[in-house]
Amino acid sequence: MRITRIRLGRISVPLRVPFKTALRSVDSVEDVVVEVHTDAGTIGYGEAPPTGVITGDTTGAIVGAVQDHIGRAILDRDVDDLEDLLQRVQRSIVHNTSAKAAVDMALWDLYGQLHHIPVYKLLGGARKCIVTDITISVNPPEEMARDARDAIGRGYDCLKVKVGANPALDVERLSAVRRAVGDDVCIRIDANQAWRPREAVRILNAMQEKGLAIEFVEQPVKAQDIDGLRYVTEHSDVPVLADESVFSPEDAMRIMQTRAADLINIKLMKCGGLTNALKIASAAEVYGVECMIGCMLEAKISVNAAVELACAKRIITKVDLDGPVLCSEDPILGGAVFREKEITVSDEPGLGIRGVEPGRIAYID
Ligand SMILES: [Mg+2]
Repeated sequence: MRITRIRLGRISVPLRVPFKTALRSVDSVEDVVVEVHTDAGTIGYGEAPPTGVITGDTTGAIVGAVQDHIGRAILDRDVDDLEDLLQRVQRSIVHNTSAKAAVDMALWDLYGQLHHIPVYKLLGGARKCIVTDITISVNPPEEMARDARDAIGRGYDCLKVKVGANPALDVERLSAVRRAVGDDVCIRIDANQAWRPREAVRILNAMQEKGLAIEFVEQPVKAQDIDGLRYVTEHSDVPVLADESVFSPEDAMRIMQTRAADLINIKLMKCGGLTNALKIASAAEVYGVECMIGCMLEAKISVNAAVELACAKRIITKVDLDGPVLCSEDPILGGAVFREKEITVSDEPGLGIRGVEPGRIAYID
């Protein structure tokens, strides 16, 4: 099975409601779709979102990286030489982790199709179903309380609440959400780098004193401030999860070795795809550090790849794959089934994606 063509397209999927964090506000998913075609007529699918404020990857950069570097590195090569292909993707260009992730997942997709095995089974096959949280955007407290009640009404029992847009309001926001949903709902919070280390400890301790029962806090301080991250980990009772601080497997190793965080958030778009995500998961197994699997604002092709990984590996104990359920529609055919919080992986070979609804993809040729 030889790679004959790399085709790129764009998809646009409206969100149900605007997505707001301490870093940005967005009202639709605008992703690049990568198709890797072969002489056997099969297609491997990948997807990458332009998340400039986190990865630095814009639509133009993703398209350029795939067309000018990553695609050329794998063209005319045999899908069965997977190890060689995956290395070529990573070595073809520095940074550009979203573009690499899209092509990397498409190669795993083709390899699974070639050998008639779903990717989640190829990688370990721990389970078929996972349960995701859902994100509550950062807004005035009463609006967040309403959104949280709506989410519980849709069957979610774990909320990921965005905070940090105005730190003075954060305790109030969380109190409103906790009052709205009661004590049985799991609440994790994500500050998206918004706090300073001492401020983070002060806010987290205030939340604990009020009995808000936060499961963990995600990325309380700046991505590069590893000392600050460790300070929060050491001085707060709330477990700390590193997100923007961990891109590569090397980042993850450094954080685990120095105990700068309690938990690691794996995202395919940060680490450059399933191949590097597997390395992070393996390192985490060695260190006994549980992982969350997360996504950016992504449609179902790339989130589906993350589902395959989550279903393969038990060290991934927390799931934040709400991209598709935040969308108002799903133009992707095949792949995992998302029933609100419950996600069931596909048993089709590869990643199980059959394509995009006709007319929904704008090809870049
Ligand atoms: Mg995060």
